[in-house]
Amino acid sequence: MDKVQVWDAVLTRMSEKISRMEFHTWFKKVRISEISGGAVLLSCPTEMNKNWLETKYHGMILQNIKAILPEIDKIFFNVDLTLADSPSATPQAFEKAKAPRKLPNQPDVKLTGDLKSRIVHSKFTLGNFVVGEETKLAHAACMAVTESGSKEKKKYNPLFVYGGVGLGKTHLLQGTANEIIRRNPDAIVVYTTSERFINEIVDAIRNRKGDELRKKYRRVDALILDDVQFFEGKEKTQEELFNTFNDLFEFNKQIIFSADRPPSELVGISDRLRSRMGWGLSVDVQMPGYETRLAIVQEKSKELKLVLPNDVQEFIAANVRKSLRELENILNQISAEVELSEMSPTIQSVGKMFRKLNPSEELETSDGAKAGFAKSPDEIITAVSEYFQVPATELLGNSRKQGIVFPRQIAWTLCKDILRMSHESIGKDFGGKNHTTIMHGIRKISGLKRKDSTTARHIHALRKDLGVK
Ligand code: ADP
Ligand code: MG
Repeated sequence: MDKVQVWDAVLTRMSEKISRMEFHTWFKKVRISEISGGAVLLSCPTEMNKNWLETKYHGMILQNIKAILPEIDKIFFNVDLTLADSPSATPQAFEKAKAPRKLPNQPDVKLTGDLKSRIVHSKFTLGNFVVGEETKLAHAACMAVTESGSKEKKKYNPLFVYGGVGLGKTHLLQGTANEIIRRNPDAIVVYTTSERFINEIVDAIRNRKGDELRKKYRRVDALILDDVQFFEGKEKTQEELFNTFNDLFEFNKQIIFSADRPPSELVGISDRLRSRMGWGLSVDVQMPGYETRLAIVQEKSKELKLVLPNDVQEFIAANVRKSLRELENILNQISAEVELSEMSPTIQSVGKMFRKLNPSEELETSDGAKAGFAKSPDEIITAVSEYFQVPATELLGNSRKQGIVFPRQIAWTLCKDILRMSHESIGKDFGGKNHTTIMHGIRKISGLKRKDSTTARHIHALRKDLGVK
């Protein structure tokens, strides 16, 4: 069994145990990059993905790998950014997990003879791309491309869109492809990732069908090639791309490229190809600012049919700072949790997701204050002491007086609910008490909460004092 087969088998097992949403969100781009010496190295497309698997699925993954390779007793994780744009490493497991729902990939639209328009997602449009200062130019350029007729000379050819991971390049490119077809249903538009295009070229060369491939691409009206940095260092495929480019350009066909860098910085690409890439218009996309991110949160929640309170929307917008993929991941995650637990998301619950994904980052609220959910046991003790007017030392002590026992148990309850502390660690922080004592105390409060509304009201008021909803 090779790495791919092992991972496919592992995923097939796991897909039965976790929600499809989670499965797609967190496993699709992950692959085994090494198996050796009783250990498996899993590569993840993003830091966040890695953290998520490490904290949430470590045990489960190991268990399932062991079921297939009993000699494995360790897994390691690393980040491989190139995976973000690769197709799923283990298509089989995902095919199975997908059924019976309709595949998210739109089937190829058959147009003329053997050549079809090829677009991956109909959900990406230029209309649902939220335009901000940072992407205004790129969006306008894409719009302009879709408006130019087939007769007049193309103004922006090629159009080159560049920027970091998760800033909307693929969305813009596919949106442009969709828009060209919407305006002209007869147009043959091919959107493809560079990886796929390269594979196609390699296959054609191997099977001596280079001519056919060239003929095929010469007939498209628009060729949209995503992430051309993958061509770096691949001389043979660059040559094919160069020829295709010249053919299309000569016949006034639209070409659009994207990359993570401007053409001038694509060092592993031949001078002549690089210079052609820069012939037309190059535009960059950058991480949008807070206001735009908020608008994107709203747009994406709408698409997910997810109703989020305003403060939660603002909280997400304030804390997604590097990539909009992160934003999408968080929303998918919330949507999955809402579906599973039927709980409505709060700053606190979403904050917990953020913290799991990026443990080292400080979270902020929309007005720039540090988020109020990250309380320490000390803050809870102080708040409870003030609220019930009992000295903090008493809360930590062993007095059995009812006026003290009740507030003390409330404090434990808050530590557990807000900070997710274990009975052990609460016991430790409260003067070295046994975990069973803590457990009984917390049970007592939850019993009281059910019986009388005063207890619930106290807790509610305290949570408010602590800035927790
Ligand atoms: P890239 O190709 O640059 O790595 P993507 O196009 O894959 O980034 O974008 C990542 C996610 O963020 C996608 O789900 C995309 O829809 C979303 N996104 C990025 N920019 C915007 C935007 N301006 N408006 C709406 N969604 C966006
Ligand atoms: Mg992309």
